[in-house]
Amino acid sequence: MQVTPRAQAFIDLEEKYGAHNYHPLPVVLARGKGCYVWDVDGKRYFDFLSAYSAVNQGHCHPKIVGALTEQAERLCLTSRAFYNDALGPYEKYLHDFFGYDKALPMNSGAEAVETALKLARKWGYLKKGIPENESLIIGCEGNFHGRTITIVSISSDPDARAGYGPYTPGIEVIPYNNVSALEALLEEKGDSIAAFLVEPIQGEAGVYVPDEGYLKSCYDLCRKHNVLFIADEVQTGIARTGRLLCCDHEGVRPDIVILGKAISGGVLPVSSVLADDEVMLTIHPGEHGSTFGGFPLACRVATAALEVVKEERLSERAEELGSIFRKEMGHIRSPFVRQIRGKGLLNAVVIDPHEGKEAWDLCLKMAENGLLAKPTHGHIIRFAPPLVITEEELREAVAIIRDSIKSLE
Ligand SMILES: *Cc1c(COP(=O)(O)O)cnc(C)c1O
Repeated sequence: MQVTPRAQAFIDLEEKYGAHNYHPLPVVLARGKGCYVWDVDGKRYFDFLSAYSAVNQGHCHPKIVGALTEQAERLCLTSRAFYNDALGPYEKYLHDFFGYDKALPMNSGAEAVETALKLARKWGYLKKGIPENESLIIGCEGNFHGRTITIVSISSDPDARAGYGPYTPGIEVIPYNNVSALEALLEEKGDSIAAFLVEPIQGEAGVYVPDEGYLKSCYDLCRKHNVLFIADEVQTGIARTGRLLCCDHEGVRPDIVILGKAISGGVLPVSSVLADDEVMLTIHPGEHGSTFGGFPLACRVATAALEVVKEERLSERAEELGSIFRKEMGHIRSPFVRQIRGKGLLNAVVIDPHEGKEAWDLCLKMAENGLLAKPTHGHIIRFAPPLVITEEELREAVAIIRDSIKSLE
């Protein structure tokens, strides 16, 4: 694909003055609306990444931006040293929306995961009676929960881990989508295990959808052993997979839910941990927090973002459009395409390298043709447009994907 001098100048600035911790496609974006983004030269693209599913409500949604600007002119940040008139109403809204006793507001997804792990350890000591400093947390191979030291201590991805030791102790990692592995570990060490942390679908790993019944079986095992079931719904939550939470597909109500990304519609870094009193009240004043967590701006923005999910029936849309997407993609016959998988509008295509061309080359070709997506782990391309995309736009996008694949054959 052609990079204009105008775009190249921005790329050069990032290269020279920014840390090299990402490897972006060579497009420089300047504007977004709904399911579209525009680059600095005015070229329009379908956004099929949606900032890793943070922009489920579409770019610059007028209702969410409206809430942002209105609150921004009134009060942005108070810290939690004082009460404010936005946090309480927001927390009640979360209670009514998701059905948990309480919410603990944070900012990034990683912080919310850290918060959930701290809650689990606290609960383990105060409620379950695990002896001090002996608590264990179980994670799954292939997970992605963020980038902090403790979180990469759970990771099995060498890129995420290597060079960051020593790692946080008290962590056990078992294979994903494997109920017997969980059962065996719970039988062996259940008395010391505080929590099982799981993504209902592993997004970053390449949209790995576990077998039907996996979450329910894991949940039941956790119940049996008095272990907290923690769902990291940072990517799968807020309508992306065709339900409000991905766990809803199996009727599982996690003990702790971790939300991030789309809870603000991609407008601000907002995250939240949801739990009932038995868990949430194990953390007392002064024992955890964040300067920005639950700031008034975030509260108003997140409330508006959740209202949009309901008003525009985004769960139902994701469910319907997801079926259409997988059906249409299934008609593409190509040596490049090994598998199409996903739930709702969280989907991925597994690419077989063909005549020296790989997933990265296909992403460049699609960008040239007006659609943005990014490979994950080399050979998998995730397709996750904003949920406000229309059926007509979705079909147009599939045509771009198909033509791009064909032109590489
Ligand atoms: C993105 C993601 C996170 C981390 O969120 P950040 O806001 O990037 O810290 C955690 N868990 C899952 C499942 C994610 O997809």
